[in-house]
Amino acid sequence: MSYRYGERVALNGVSLTVMPGDVFALLGPNGAGKSTLIRTLCGRLRPTSGSVLIDGHNPARSRVARGRIGLVPQDIALYPYMTVAENLSVFGRLAGIRGAQLVTMVDHAITATGLEERVDQRVETLSGGYKRRANIASALLHAPKLLVLDEPTVGVDLDARNSINAVLRSLSEGGMSVLITTHDLDQAASVASNVGIIVQGQIVETGAPDELVAERYGGAQEMVLLLAELADPGVAAILTNSGFKSLEEGRLWRGRLSSDGPGIDALTSQLVSAGARVRETRVRQPGLDSLYADLTGESEVA
Ligand code: ADP
Ligand code: MG
Repeated sequence: MSYRYGERVALNGVSLTVMPGDVFALLGPNGAGKSTLIRTLCGRLRPTSGSVLIDGHNPARSRVARGRIGLVPQDIALYPYMTVAENLSVFGRLAGIRGAQLVTMVDHAITATGLEERVDQRVETLSGGYKRRANIASALLHAPKLLVLDEPTVGVDLDARNSINAVLRSLSEGGMSVLITTHDLDQAASVASNVGIIVQGQIVETGAPDELVAERYGGAQEMVLLLAELADPGVAAILTNSGFKSLEEGRLWRGRLSSDGPGIDALTSQLVSAGARVRETRVRQPGLDSLYADLTGESEVA
């Protein structure tokens, strides 16, 4: 599937499938095409070529398809002065649900997102994490088959992030398909059954996070090295020649130690002789963040 804004190609031959029970995390730098992809899924944009099917229906043409999607926007879209329960009733009515079914669906959404203790609280008094959960609940009222979340954990603390992950996991265990965009690689690694890495409108890698990392790196270890100040050209040359890449403007470097090159100690002493002050070295297993950095050239998801 492709999409162009006029001459600008935003999605170029993207193909992905999210099965019931999957949590699919879409990762990519700013401008990669994530929001455009979400807009085509929700039927707001029609692909320039190719197609989108939601449970067999085309969302650009069919209300049935749009009814199978629950979209959780990045910004909280709730009425701050109303309670959680009042908000959910309003959103349920807007989705065309009435009467006994509305009561059932509101209850169901509250349970699914763990909001039982907060139903009578005004939204403006909720913590950021609970606001997000209420936002998710409001997207569940029409019982969608696919839940799409744009950056569900921006600006929430670790506890809230863990509880949102738990909500997403339990929804997927109930058979829902979940698609998230996230800049949070830890979240993607812990919650996603599949990730897709999108760069300049193309999905360059897709699969289960553990498998992707294992395929690419095998058992190789990686070294992260933090300098006290920016690497000068001599220091940078040593690191680059050893296959290291700079992450944080020349202070943080990451690379894999090859068995035939210098070990950590040799490398560190070379750097010290070149005048570098090495503040910290760490050896670790490469993770999804390593894969992301290698594929996009960026150390963090935008
Ligand atoms: P992401 O969400 O991954 O940051 P987007 O889907 O927003 O990426 O953008 C993908 C590309 O399409 C970028 O090059 C962006 O500049 C361009 N783009 C996004 N929205 C529009 C628009 N409304 N008109 C023209 N170009 C757009
Ligand atoms: Mg975006």
